[in-house]
Amino acid sequence: VTKHFPARGGLPRRGVARRVVHAVEDVSLDLYAGRITALVGESGSGKSTLARLLAQLHPVTSGEVLLHGKPVRAQRGRAFREHVRAVQLILQDPFGSFNPVATIAGTLGRAVALHHPERKGKERAALVEDLLTQINLTPPRQFAEKFPHELSGGQLQRISIARALAAEPEVFLADEPVSSLDVSIRLGVLNLLRRLTEERNAAMLYVTHDIASARYFAADTAVMYAGQLVEQGPSEAVTQQAAHPYTQLLISSAPDPSRPAGSRVRDIGQPPSLIDPPAGCRFHPRCPFAMERCATTVPDSHEISPGHTTRCWLYADDAEARAKRAENAA
Ligand code: SF4
Ligand code: MG
Repeated sequence: VTKHFPARGGLPRRGVARRVVHAVEDVSLDLYAGRITALVGESGSGKSTLARLLAQLHPVTSGEVLLHGKPVRAQRGRAFREHVRAVQLILQDPFGSFNPVATIAGTLGRAVALHHPERKGKERAALVEDLLTQINLTPPRQFAEKFPHELSGGQLQRISIARALAAEPEVFLADEPVSSLDVSIRLGVLNLLRRLTEERNAAMLYVTHDIASARYFAADTAVMYAGQLVEQGPSEAVTQQAAHPYTQLLISSAPDPSRPAGSRVRDIGQPPSLIDPPAGCRFHPRCPFAMERCATTVPDSHEISPGHTTRCWLYADDAEARAKRAENAA
């Protein structure tokens, strides 16, 4: 899929083309039932836009989102709504997504009413309690009566997960689901997401800027840079044998408890603006191995090991690329 949208700000002037944000460029990614795929990148790399495209919150500029192999765009009416139900988005900020004057029972009751209109009265209340039990907020009756401000960030994030669960999704899109939470409770929420994915045999896209958590949490990892997917494969391979210079940079700049105290994390510079992004490989202005072709031509995908691919000219089969590759390995 590709997503371009008009840049905000500035008045449109006659004869001057509106500037365009190239948010997602020709990205292809598969999600699998019962499997977590991490989508890793810096802020502003297009990760959230991609998640929103999958959730049908934005139309794609080109390409297709497929569910069970069927293009979602081609569906109409009931079939389209069915697709929308099956793909549920969980957002980063749980505080912003609740009605402050509705109880948790009210909020979850609305979600149940939307997805299971046949359940009314006691049946609906029972389903709400069941959802609270599934996310380990017990006793459920006690939590049902609370208002959002009476709950912690971690509890609210669990409730946004319960709200998504009410739809019985086949795909969870979790956009930085723990970034706004206290470090001490992140693991609990991630483990809950993992358990739900496994129990329901659902697919999960786990969007994060934290490549270390991707390795721990996700079977597969895809790395996004400035709207392009630069590397993907089994998390173990992508994080232990990172092929793309950007992935290597991300890993070397991630906080590492084994580094001596006081040593500074490497400054990795800034990602480019997605308005008029660099041509060719968008990483080329920052890449220590850039070759001439990198500035002009989008790299092909090269397979490093089974299922592990990268879009980088270093892996082309010619003398210059081989020499650069050796330099990188050194
Ligand atoms: Fe991009 Fe070229 Fe560097 Fe590979 S070597 S990351 S293609 S600039
Ligand atoms: Mg984001």
